[in-house]
Amino acid sequence: MASLLTAEDRAALSGHFADRVAFDEPLAPYTWWRIGGPADALVCVDSNADAAFVLRLCFKRRLPWFVLGLGSNVLVGDGGIRGLVLRLGGSFGELDVRDEGPVVAVAAGASVQLALLTAQAASKGALGVESLAGIPGSVGGALFMNAGTDREIGEFVREVWVHTLTKPDVHPVGVQYYYRHTTLARDAIVARVTLAFERGDPAAVRASMQERLVRRKRTQPVGQPNAGSCFRNPPGAKAGALIESVGAKGWRSGGAEVSALHANFIVNVANAKALDVTTLLARVRRAVRDACDVDLQLEVHLVGEFVA
Ligand SMILES: Cc1cc2nc3c(=O)[nH]c(=O)nc-3n(C[C@H](O)[C@H](O)[C@H](O)COP(=O)(O)OP(=O)(O)OC[C@H]3O[C@@H](n4cnc5c(N)ncnc54)[C@H](O)[C@@H]3O)c2cc1C
Repeated sequence: MASLLTAEDRAALSGHFADRVAFDEPLAPYTWWRIGGPADALVCVDSNADAAFVLRLCFKRRLPWFVLGLGSNVLVGDGGIRGLVLRLGGSFGELDVRDEGPVVAVAAGASVQLALLTAQAASKGALGVESLAGIPGSVGGALFMNAGTDREIGEFVREVWVHTLTKPDVHPVGVQYYYRHTTLARDAIVARVTLAFERGDPAAVRASMQERLVRRKRTQPVGQPNAGSCFRNPPGAKAGALIESVGAKGWRSGGAEVSALHANFIVNVANAKALDVTTLLARVRRAVRDACDVDLQLEVHLVGEFVA
C-alpha cells in the first residue's frame, strides 16, 4: 500500500523527531501477536509538547494517526497502517505511588506498564489492584479499553488527562466506563491518569495477586504470541465456553490456531498473517452464531489495512 506521507510531511516529522521517527516501519515487532504490516511513520512521542506538536501537524496536513500502546489488544492488518502510528515514552513513563491517609494514590503516565503499576501499588496495599494483575498492557491502553477482570481500571480512576485534535495541549476530561470500552473520544491521546485505591494489608494484596498470576499461567497460553480474549463475553455467558462448545479448540488457518488451552485466545504458531487470524475469527463467530444463536462481538481492535 502506498504511503500517505508526502516528502514535505516526512521533512516536518524528521525536523521535530529526528531519529525518533521511522518511516515504513513494520509493526509486527510492536504487537503481542507479532503480526502487522508497516506504518507510514512510527513516531516516539516523549512529552506533552511532542503530542501537541504531532496533533497540530496531523490537523494541518490532514493526516490520520493511531496510538499504539503495548500492542496487546490489537490486530494490525498485513497492509499496515497509513499515516502516523504514535508510541508514547519519555515523560509518559513516569509513575508515582504514595500513601494518602486511608488511600493509595497513583499518578501514572500513559506508557507505564500495568505490571509495574500493579506491583508497586500492591506493595502499598492497594485494595482491588490485584484485579489488574497480569494484564500485559500500558496504562493508556488499559484506560482506553477499561481493562480488568472482576474489577476494572475505571472503578479506580480519579482524573484523566488527554490531548485531542481540537485541544492539542494536555487537559483533563471526564470519562465514563463500560465493559471494555469508555466514552473517551476516539481521537483522544491519553497522557496520564490518577487512580485511588482503598488501603489494605500489603501482604494480603500481594498474595491475592500472586494467586491470580499463577492461575493465568495455568489457564492462558502465555508462552505463545496472542492478544488475550478475542471476543467480549456476551451478557450472562463466557465467550470462551461458547467457542469451546462448538469444538473450535485447535482450529487452524495458516499460522494461526484457536488455543487448545483457552478457546477465546488465538495463538500465532507459525508466522501467522493477519488474514489467518481474521479467517479464524470469522469461522469461530459463524459457528457460535449457528450453534448457540449468539453473535459474538470482537474485543480485540482490528486496525489498518487487511489487504497487503
Ligand atoms: C495474555 C493476555 C492477557 C490479557 N488479559 C486481559 C484481561 O484479563 N483483561 C483485559 O481487560 N484485557 C486483557 N488483555 C488485553 C490487553 O492486555 C488490554 O486490553 C490492555 O489494556 C491493552 O493495552 P495496550 O497498551 O497493549 O493497548 P494496545 O493493544 O496497544 O491498544 C488497545 C487500544 O487502546 C488504544 N490506546 C492505547 N494506548 C492509548 C493511549 N495512550 N491513548 C489513547 N488510546 C490508546 C489503542 O489505540 C487501541 O485502540 C490481555 C492480553 C493478553 C495478550
